[in-house]
Amino acid sequence: MKMIKQVLIVGGGTAGWLAACHLAKKLQSGSASGVQITLLESATIPTIGVGEGTVPAIRQSLQYLGISETDFIRECDVTLKQSIQFVDWMKPAADGTVHRYHHLFDYPDLSSLDLTPYWLQGLAGDCSYADAVSWQGRLCDAGLAPKTMLHAEFNGHCNYAYHLDAVKFARLLTRHATEKLGVKHLLGTVQQVECAQNGAIAAVLTPEHGRISADIFIDCTGFSALLIGEACKVPFIAKNDVMFVDSALAVQVPYASSEQAIPCYTIATAREAGWIWDIGLSARRGTGYVYASRYTSDERAEQVLRQYLQGAADQLPLRKIDMKVGYREKFWHHNCIALGLSQGFVEPLEATGLLIYDATARMLADLFPPHQAAMPMLAERFNQRVRLAWDKVIDFIKLHYYLSDRDDSAFWRDNRDPASVPASLLANLEQWRYQLPSPYDFHSKLEVFNLENYLYVLYGMGFHTDLAGQEYRFGAGAQAQQMFGYYQHKFQQLQSELLPHRELIRRVQQYGLQKI
Ligand SMILES: Cc1cc2nc3c(=O)[nH]c(=O)nc-3n(C[C@H](O)[C@H](O)[C@H](O)COP(=O)(O)OP(=O)(O)OC[C@H]3O[C@@H](n4cnc5c(N)ncnc54)[C@H](O)[C@@H]3O)c2cc1C
Repeated sequence: MKMIKQVLIVGGGTAGWLAACHLAKKLQSGSASGVQITLLESATIPTIGVGEGTVPAIRQSLQYLGISETDFIRECDVTLKQSIQFVDWMKPAADGTVHRYHHLFDYPDLSSLDLTPYWLQGLAGDCSYADAVSWQGRLCDAGLAPKTMLHAEFNGHCNYAYHLDAVKFARLLTRHATEKLGVKHLLGTVQQVECAQNGAIAAVLTPEHGRISADIFIDCTGFSALLIGEACKVPFIAKNDVMFVDSALAVQVPYASSEQAIPCYTIATAREAGWIWDIGLSARRGTGYVYASRYTSDERAEQVLRQYLQGAADQLPLRKIDMKVGYREKFWHHNCIALGLSQGFVEPLEATGLLIYDATARMLADLFPPHQAAMPMLAERFNQRVRLAWDKVIDFIKLHYYLSDRDDSAFWRDNRDPASVPASLLANLEQWRYQLPSPYDFHSKLEVFNLENYLYVLYGMGFHTDLAGQEYRFGAGAQAQQMFGYYQHKFQQLQSELLPHRELIRRVQQYGLQKI
């Protein structure tokens, strides 16, 4: 039985380095008995350099990998993210008020009492769903950070994730992987992939290091998918029929002053053929318009983005990025495993890229095959689970479009055509018209969006669950009203304790957070 002792990761973007860290930590890279993890990246082919929004799972990963939160905040221009605020995803109100709602990271506490039916019955008064079930939305609107200087690293009053500079994050991961986790780092460009007769990869060929062989090859070469796509010929399943958005224009915008407030949430503003992301890092804003090339031109997209930026980037060039939307038919083929953009990608509306790549890298590390005979069975499971994760992500992203009542362009109208909606999502929505979403609707550990995420989006977008005639099921109205009052009170209490977001980041950069 041939033991697996050498893994070669090709590609040094955030996916490659995250994979390197997870594998090296679990498999004791660099030790005599462990599995040697080597990462090969091209010095001439750049990383994609975007991907600035994350979800809270990244906090557990950083902590698990042994990365200091203070170093991370200092070195990667990090700010804290408590929510995604969706703006203009529904038509404005009759008086012209723009529609906005939060998808918060503090989840409603469903274990004691699910407040949803009571909110639907109007017992919270004129209060958004997010504000009824959490104090975090009010904190976001007040520009307050989710933690104080007294909280230790990775702790806070509220659940949070980060905004980060992707290039600097890859650099931090590089240092951590090579200095602390025993990863070997090679600079070189793969020019040819040598495949064995059975279709497995035998080696990659580079001018800098010649032929490099390994037992397992991890493809982190980004959209080019050099190993899994070009060499192994695993087909790509395009999802453009469901997810229309396939292009992006991005620009990094300077702050008008060093005192300009930094929102502690991502702002996602819907526009005629897509949406604009607006992310405040400590040193600059990262913004971009992701749009559907079938419905608009690059020139019009540029106008839309510049109009949104109101002159803040008039002198700056925009960067065009073509996005390959969908996923591979298989993510693990013989001894080649795809992680990162080579595995799959959908528009970054809910910051799913890093989330899935991080989760699948960790899964691979946990399930890592000791010898080659164990590979086929593991590969089959990995393929099933990762595919499910992607399908569920697509359901969740499509939900935002399908629930919208915007009809100002063909893009929005076509997004509501049931023919473009996955059957699994339609079935859930049908059920939720008369029944509250419940944990029974979510089955898999790798479902990255769960009940709580759906609740924020469904009810943030005005979805109606008709509970008429079911009042007998919801007899805790008085307790619910107490809870609604509690969330409001808690916000007022925290208001005096929490710093404005920019000020907290400044202090963390200066003094550092307490280690756990
Ligand atoms: C517009 C846009 C916005 C996004 N926003 C988000 C977001 O908010 N949140 C999020 O989580 N994700 C986001 N993503 C996804 C994010 O970009 C990826 O999660 C992340 O950057 C991972 O990229 P990667 O490492 O797979 O590929 P890349 O960063 O492209 O890295 C590819 C690597 O492969 C190497 N390489 C390529 N060819 C060769 C070769 N022949 N030989 C050797 N090395 C080679 C390159 O040198 C590079 O190191 C976004 C993506 C896009 C397109």
